Amino acid sequence: MGYEDSSTTRAAAGMRILQEEFTAPRARTADGAPRARAVHAPPPCDLGLLDHLQQSRRELIDTTRVMLAGHPTPQPLPPAPADEGIYQWMVESTAHLDAGRRRAQDAIVYRQGLEHALRAGDTLVIRREACPGCGCWSLMWRQQIQRAVCIQRECRDDIGRASQWELRQLAHHHIANRPQRAAK
Ligand SMILES: [Zn+2]
Repeated sequence: MGYEDSSTTRAAAGMRILQEEFTAPRARTADGAPRARAVHAPPPCDLGLLDHLQQSRRELIDTTRVMLAGHPTPQPLPPAPADEGIYQWMVESTAHLDAGRRRAQDAIVYRQGLEHALRAGDTLVIRREACPGCGCWSLMWRQQIQRAVCIQRECRDDIGRASQWELRQLAHHHIANRPQRAAK
């Protein structure tokens, strides 16, 4: 069984890239030369990145358990994979649930895909999201406030600022507006 859709594939690929970045040895400088031994050695790993990966994984496991609570499952829940296979584990574990429940899951997966891309430095991923306020492709990522801001002059919030959107809101907007899958 493959991944359910492209956003699941993207989230999984994003997690893999970040895991590789986290585990890659940092033995060389930017020009490829072996790094001289530093007097004050840099931290051996990016703890912020580790934290991000662990939080993402924890959210997927917790969400899956909550979704399955009170629903008879065809088989016991297998252990969650430690790598990006956790997305497929989630999709397969909840495939028997109704579409409404799975939409909430899809929004989480979609948001994590955006988070992974931004963590890897790909802010252009936000340009491919339609603004929930005006429907235009007019969003820019603002790192300081951790939100996408619309550059359309007419697109304002209640107090007259340029409209701002959390990743969670962009994900819900995307999932709510995507074409519905054909009923089986
Ligand atoms: Zn807008």
